[in-house]
Amino acid sequence: MKFDTKVVRAGIEPDPGTGAIVPPIFQSATFVLPEVGVDTGFDYTRSTNPSRHVLEQNLAALENGNRGAAFSSGMSAVDAVLRYFSAGDHVVSSDDVYGGVSRLFNKILTRFGMEFTFVNSSDPDAVRAAMRPNTKLLWVETPTNPLLKVTDLSAMSEIARAHGCLFGVDTTFATPALLQPFDFGADIVMHSTTKYISGHNQIIGGAVVTRDEELGEHFHYMQKSIGAVPSPFDCWLTLMGIKTLSLRMERHSANAMRVAEFLEAHDKVERVSYPGLPSHPGHAIAARQMKAFSGMVSFEIEGGSPAAVALLNGVELARLAESLGAVETMITHPATMTHAEVPEQDRYARGLSDGLVRLSVGIEDVEDIITDLEQALHNC
Ligand code: PLP
Repeated sequence: MKFDTKVVRAGIEPDPGTGAIVPPIFQSATFVLPEVGVDTGFDYTRSTNPSRHVLEQNLAALENGNRGAAFSSGMSAVDAVLRYFSAGDHVVSSDDVYGGVSRLFNKILTRFGMEFTFVNSSDPDAVRAAMRPNTKLLWVETPTNPLLKVTDLSAMSEIARAHGCLFGVDTTFATPALLQPFDFGADIVMHSTTKYISGHNQIIGGAVVTRDEELGEHFHYMQKSIGAVPSPFDCWLTLMGIKTLSLRMERHSANAMRVAEFLEAHDKVERVSYPGLPSHPGHAIAARQMKAFSGMVSFEIEGGSPAAVALLNGVELARLAESLGAVETMITHPATMTHAEVPEQDRYARGLSDGLVRLSVGIEDVEDIITDLEQALHNC
């Protein structure tokens, strides 16, 4: 099956009992055994559930992977990845990662003896230099949240292979419709399915896809042992969202390109970061590894934090919200919202200034999105 067929069909069969074309929601905690020692493939929903199973099969197919594991949030999916490792293990991570990821690494996992080095993963030499004998994982986000930095995944996988460590990619901002990290040598692909994959601000969820059987088994073991699993209803809602993933990503990307061009030409905007713009330092790499450039745009407004706050309070169509990757256009101030817990000096060191605005361009009519930004910029 080609990708656009897979989003609608992969892993989804009519219900054998009724012929229902949409898989039912198996909202059941447990499953009755026909006899002692025999089950139907399901026994207890923490371990596995038919609604979750369909979603996991679909996600594995979209990534050209073997096993998918759904989690109750993107954060619990990242946590499940890190639980593959042990005290004393070292992780090299992209420096510009979602604030919740740096909080998990720095504030929680370091207490259990794990070590982290954050580097600009757009620079392969910096990544190579950060490797240590005890480095067990190279963790990359691309494009990054919120600066939209792009990382060359082939270069990263070469470094990871040479070092004998695993290579994991959080590709929440791209989705498998635009970027398939296994093609570039990744071992683990992770998503916050809260975002584009479900696409309608309807659930919180996460997923991990693997090719290696032992790694796939680890994630199932984490679902069963920790229990951070999504409800059957959330799995069903996510699956419904995925059916339009290709169409949505096309529209998000087209709209974001127009918005980025508008912002880049605006005299109150100092700098725009969008991987689709030729001015983006990672444009050539993004063009090589991504099918389109997705819907996230970040920009620096003239006048710093007060101007950013005025803009965010002035928009009427765009929604002032923490999240991203849904059909509605959403606008965020990373310094006070998504990345507020990143210490100020770390934020500044990675280029995340107080005047930075992150825009998740939705699928509305792009003229309406631009008109809204124009009026808000005019008043700030
Ligand atoms: N990874 C990225 C790139 C994100 O943007 C987010 C959330 O914004 C997460 C992980 C965490 O996902 P969740 O909010 O679903 O726990």
